[in-house]
Amino acid sequence: MSAVGELLGRNEVFAQGTRGELSALPLLGTLIVTCPDPRVDPAHVLGVGLGEAAVVRAAGGRVTPLVLENLANLADLAAVYGITSFEGIELVLLQHTDCGLSHMDDPEHHESLARLFGVAVDDLASRAISDPRRGVAVDIEALAQSPVIPDSIAVSGLLYDVTSGRVELLERRNPLRPTQEPRP
Ligand SMILES: [Zn+2]
Repeated sequence: MSAVGELLGRNEVFAQGTRGELSALPLLGTLIVTCPDPRVDPAHVLGVGLGEAAVVRAAGGRVTPLVLENLANLADLAAVYGITSFEGIELVLLQHTDCGLSHMDDPEHHESLARLFGVAVDDLASRAISDPRRGVAVDIEALAQSPVIPDSIAVSGLLYDVTSGRVELLERRNPLRPTQEPRP
Protein backbone atom coordinates (compact mmCIF):
# COMPACT_ATOMS: atom_id res chain seq x y z
CA MET A 1 0.00 0.00 0.00
CA SER A 2 1.24 3.49 -0.79
CA ALA A 3 1.92 5.88 2.08
CA VAL A 4 -1.14 7.93 1.18
CA GLY A 5 -3.28 4.77 1.12
CA GLU A 6 -2.03 3.98 4.61
CA LEU A 7 -2.79 7.54 5.78
CA LEU A 8 -6.30 7.51 4.29
CA GLY A 9 -6.97 4.23 6.10
CA ARG A 10 -5.88 5.82 9.38
CA ASN A 11 -8.11 8.82 8.63
CA GLU A 12 -11.08 6.49 8.33
CA VAL A 13 -10.46 5.38 11.91
CA PHE A 14 -9.96 9.00 13.02
CA ALA A 15 -13.19 10.19 11.34
CA GLN A 16 -15.16 7.51 13.17
CA GLY A 17 -13.97 8.79 16.55
CA THR A 18 -15.52 11.67 18.48
CA ARG A 19 -13.88 15.06 18.25
CA GLY A 20 -16.48 17.48 19.59
CA GLU A 21 -16.87 21.01 18.30
CA LEU A 22 -13.44 22.59 18.07
CA SER A 23 -12.71 26.30 17.58
CA ALA A 24 -10.15 27.49 15.03
CA LEU A 25 -8.53 29.34 17.95
CA PRO A 26 -5.99 27.25 19.87
CA LEU A 27 -7.43 26.05 23.19
CA LEU A 28 -4.06 26.48 24.92
CA GLY A 29 -3.61 29.96 23.44
CA THR A 30 -0.41 28.74 21.89
CA LEU A 31 1.29 29.21 18.55
CA ILE A 32 4.23 26.85 18.08
CA VAL A 33 6.97 27.36 15.50
CA THR A 34 8.93 24.19 14.94
CA CYS A 35 10.89 22.07 12.45
CA PRO A 36 9.31 19.66 9.92
CA ASP A 37 11.65 16.94 11.26
CA PRO A 38 9.42 13.86 11.81
CA ARG A 39 10.92 13.37 15.29
CA VAL A 40 9.74 16.79 16.44
CA ASP A 41 5.96 16.60 16.31
CA PRO A 42 4.51 18.79 19.12
CA ALA A 43 1.57 16.37 19.42
CA HIS A 44 4.04 13.78 20.72
CA VAL A 45 6.88 15.83 22.18
CA LEU A 46 4.66 18.30 24.07
CA GLY A 47 1.48 16.24 24.25
CA VAL A 48 -0.45 18.82 22.24
CA GLY A 49 -3.97 17.61 21.57
CA LEU A 50 -6.21 18.34 18.60
CA GLY A 51 -7.34 21.97 18.65
CA GLU A 52 -4.90 23.00 21.39
CA ALA A 53 -2.17 24.80 19.44
CA ALA A 54 -1.57 26.41 16.06
CA VAL A 55 1.65 25.04 14.56
CA VAL A 56 3.95 26.55 11.93
CA ARG A 57 6.57 24.14 10.65
CA ALA A 58 9.54 25.48 8.74
CA ALA A 59 13.21 24.53 8.33
CA GLY A 60 14.82 24.17 11.75
CA GLY A 61 11.89 25.93 13.38
CA ARG A 62 14.10 28.96 12.83
CA VAL A 63 12.84 32.53 12.59
CA THR A 64 13.43 33.38 8.94
CA PRO A 65 11.75 36.08 6.79
CA LEU A 66 9.38 33.36 5.52
CA VAL A 67 8.34 32.46 9.08
CA LEU A 68 7.90 36.12 10.02
CA GLU A 69 5.67 36.60 6.98
CA ASN A 70 3.69 33.54 8.01
CA LEU A 71 3.29 34.93 11.56
CA ALA A 72 2.16 38.28 10.17
CA ASN A 73 -0.48 36.47 8.09
CA LEU A 74 -1.61 34.51 11.14
CA ALA A 75 -1.93 37.76 13.14
CA ASP A 76 -4.24 39.08 10.40
CA LEU A 77 -6.14 35.81 10.43
CA ALA A 78 -6.55 35.93 14.24
CA ALA A 79 -8.12 39.37 13.83
CA VAL A 80 -10.95 37.65 11.90
CA TYR A 81 -11.69 35.81 15.16
CA GLY A 82 -11.51 38.99 17.26
CA ILE A 83 -7.92 38.54 18.47
CA THR A 84 -5.87 41.67 17.88
CA SER A 85 -2.07 41.80 18.14
CA PHE A 86 -1.97 38.11 19.12
CA GLU A 87 -3.59 39.08 22.43
CA GLY A 88 -3.64 36.09 24.82
CA ILE A 89 -1.43 34.02 22.53
CA GLU A 90 1.96 32.67 23.61
CA LEU A 91 4.49 32.09 20.87
CA VAL A 92 6.63 29.00 21.44
CA LEU A 93 9.78 28.26 19.46
CA LEU A 94 10.50 24.53 19.55
CA GLN A 95 13.94 23.81 18.11
CA HIS A 96 15.90 20.60 18.50
CA THR A 97 19.26 18.86 18.66
CA ASP A 98 20.61 17.02 15.59
CA CYS A 99 18.61 19.29 13.27
CA GLY A 100 19.32 18.73 9.58
CA LEU A 101 19.83 22.47 9.22
CA SER A 102 22.67 22.38 11.75
CA HIS A 103 24.47 19.86 9.53
CA MET A 104 24.48 22.31 6.60
CA ASP A 105 27.37 24.29 8.05
CA ASP A 106 29.46 23.40 5.01
CA PRO A 107 30.49 26.20 2.61
CA GLU A 108 28.60 24.54 -0.27
CA HIS A 109 25.31 25.22 1.58
CA HIS A 110 26.11 28.75 2.69
CA GLU A 111 24.41 30.45 -0.21
CA SER A 112 21.08 28.64 0.22
CA LEU A 113 21.20 29.15 4.00
CA ALA A 114 21.92 32.86 3.54
CA ARG A 115 18.89 33.05 1.23
CA LEU A 116 16.74 31.23 3.78
CA PHE A 117 17.71 33.64 6.56
CA GLY A 118 17.69 36.70 4.32
CA VAL A 119 21.27 37.63 5.23
CA ALA A 120 24.54 37.98 3.35
CA VAL A 121 26.76 34.88 3.31
CA ASP A 122 29.26 36.83 5.44
CA ASP A 123 26.59 37.35 8.11
CA LEU A 124 25.57 33.70 8.31
CA ALA A 125 27.63 33.10 11.47
CA SER A 126 25.30 35.49 13.31
CA ARG A 127 22.42 33.03 12.80
CA ALA A 128 24.17 30.27 14.82
CA ILE A 129 23.22 27.52 12.35
CA SER A 130 25.13 24.75 14.12
CA ASP A 131 24.52 25.79 17.73
CA PRO A 132 20.93 25.02 18.79
CA ARG A 133 21.20 26.89 22.12
CA ARG A 134 22.48 30.06 20.51
CA GLY A 135 19.99 29.57 17.66
CA VAL A 136 17.06 29.88 20.09
CA ALA A 137 18.51 33.07 21.61
CA VAL A 138 19.22 34.54 18.15
CA ASP A 139 15.66 33.80 17.04
CA ILE A 140 14.00 35.32 20.11
CA GLU A 141 16.02 38.45 19.42
CA ALA A 142 14.93 38.30 15.74
CA LEU A 143 11.30 38.23 16.92
CA ALA A 144 11.97 41.21 19.20
CA GLN A 145 13.49 43.11 16.27
CA SER A 146 10.61 42.38 13.92
CA PRO A 147 7.88 45.01 13.55
CA VAL A 148 5.30 42.32 12.69
CA ILE A 149 5.48 40.77 16.19
CA PRO A 150 3.52 42.72 18.83
CA ASP A 151 5.24 44.01 22.02
CA SER A 152 2.89 42.30 24.44
CA ILE A 153 3.17 38.72 23.24
CA ALA A 154 4.89 36.17 25.49
CA VAL A 155 7.63 34.23 23.72
CA SER A 156 9.33 31.05 24.91
CA GLY A 157 12.31 29.30 23.37
CA LEU A 158 12.46 25.54 23.89
CA LEU A 159 15.16 23.07 22.94
CA TYR A 160 14.15 19.45 22.41
CA ASP A 161 16.82 16.81 22.85
CA VAL A 162 15.95 14.10 20.31
CA THR A 163 18.04 11.57 22.25
CA SER A 164 16.75 12.06 25.79
CA GLY A 165 13.24 13.17 24.75
CA ARG A 166 13.51 16.11 27.17
CA VAL A 167 12.53 19.67 26.36
CA GLU A 168 14.38 22.51 28.07
CA LEU A 169 13.07 26.05 28.43
CA LEU A 170 16.05 28.19 27.41
CA GLU A 171 14.47 31.62 27.49
CA ARG A 172 11.10 33.22 28.10
CA ARG A 173 10.20 36.86 27.54
CA ASN A 174 6.83 37.96 28.82
CA PRO A 175 6.18 40.38 27.30
CA LEU A 176 8.53 40.12 24.33
CA ARG A 177 9.41 43.80 24.63
CA PRO A 178 9.19 45.79 27.85
CA THR A 179 6.69 48.63 27.52
CA GLN A 180 8.32 52.00 27.10
CA GLU A 181 8.01 54.35 30.06
CA PRO A 182 6.01 57.40 29.02
CA ARG A 183 8.28 60.40 28.57
CA PRO A 184 7.75 63.24 31.03
ZN1 LIG B 1 15.17 20.24 12.41
